[in-house]
Amino acid sequence: MAQGQGDYRILHEAALRDYLAGLPELKAVLGGEPARWTITEVGDGNLNLVFIVKGASGGVAVKQALPYVRLVGESWPLPLSRAHHEYLALSKQAQLAPGLVPALLHHNESLALTVMELLEPHIIMRKGLVAATQYPGFVGDISTFMARTLFFTSDLALTAAEKKEGIAAFAGNHALCKITEDLIFTDPYRIAEQNRWTAPYLDALAASLRDDMELHVAISRLKLKFMASPEALLHGDLHTGSIMVTDSQTRVIDPEFAFYGPMGFDVGAVLANLLMAYFASSGHERAPGGRAAFEAWVLETVEQVWNEFSRKFLDLWRAGAAGDAYPVSLFASEKGAARLEVERQTYMQRLFTDAVGFAAAKITRRIFGLAHNIDFELIEDSKKRAISEARAVRLARAMMVETGAFRTIADVTGAARKLRVWRPELSS
Ligand code: ADP
Ligand code: MG
Repeated sequence: MAQGQGDYRILHEAALRDYLAGLPELKAVLGGEPARWTITEVGDGNLNLVFIVKGASGGVAVKQALPYVRLVGESWPLPLSRAHHEYLALSKQAQLAPGLVPALLHHNESLALTVMELLEPHIIMRKGLVAATQYPGFVGDISTFMARTLFFTSDLALTAAEKKEGIAAFAGNHALCKITEDLIFTDPYRIAEQNRWTAPYLDALAASLRDDMELHVAISRLKLKFMASPEALLHGDLHTGSIMVTDSQTRVIDPEFAFYGPMGFDVGAVLANLLMAYFASSGHERAPGGRAAFEAWVLETVEQVWNEFSRKFLDLWRAGAAGDAYPVSLFASEKGAARLEVERQTYMQRLFTDAVGFAAAKITRRIFGLAHNIDFELIEDSKKRAISEARAVRLARAMMVETGAFRTIADVTGAARKLRVWRPELSS
């Protein structure tokens, strides 16, 4: 599957057509005359080029990394090796969570290019959520994805040697980690050129973030955990813009931030993005199915994502923990088995607490940092937007600083429900 060496060049339409036509397997998937293939650039992400190519018999998606951050330009270089890490992660996820990621068709390391299954008619889940669409299959799929990818890449499932090989394979993706370390864990809490927020309404709130030392300690503890806890292979950017859906299918895309980190970061990302969809909902126009039903579904989904993830993760652990952590030989007795079961609950409680903290960090960065999301951005009336954002930020601050007060996922959804009708004081 991997191609030989060659110099990197950006493959725009004509070059891409020639390149694909030169690969017999892909030529067969696309079908017909290469000259008649349609090639459309659809990248709406922040970093890369994505082309959709369609032929007489099928289509593919082609993703190529640029040597810089697309959103910002050539002034912000970014290593091409991230495409290789994305490909490695996608392969691993396909193996551990079959059917929940796009099938890989081709990878060329020197071109930083990956060809994958065209997801159609899937849409980016965030767009569906803004339109108040409910996805009944989402909980089952995302909880399976997270439980399996996180459990099977952890010390609970791997030998120490396998685990360290895994860490090494992704250690080179540090430039992508650094983006997270800066944009999520640092910049929103200090003056940074790229920060922005809904001004003037959130001016005082933005200033309060820079002056809140309890928050600075909390975000720094989370940053340290992100940097220094290689628990499992993370997707690393598991927000609702990295998930494509239909009524009945879920596919996770875009794992270019993958590395070995704390499991709570992925789980927290999903929870955070659902919570933002919840708070944004009241700022949007009425929806056909009704906003109230959608909002109830979102909060129920937040609860079920955690509960199902936790149940599946524990089942995997109970069924076959072949890893070097918690050696089987230490818990072989009846007493040992009982004690280990209590320990598993303690482990999940600690993981829950991590997820709550990371979810809070993810919410805060979307409101004050560089990268915002359409859940809030598409609320045209900026005062309404600020109200939705201020509610989300209030929850996030509590989750980050008073994390221990959130013992269960119902504590999180209960607090969100209360804040849904809270009237924040805005700057003017
Ligand atoms: P980036 O890393 O730049 O964020 P993404 O991997 O998120 O790039 O892809 C950008 C966009 O391209 C997605 O939002 C989606 O609309 C589209 N896309 C990506 N992969 C596929 C695919 N396999 N099938 C269809 N569309 C895709
Ligand atoms: Mg993306």
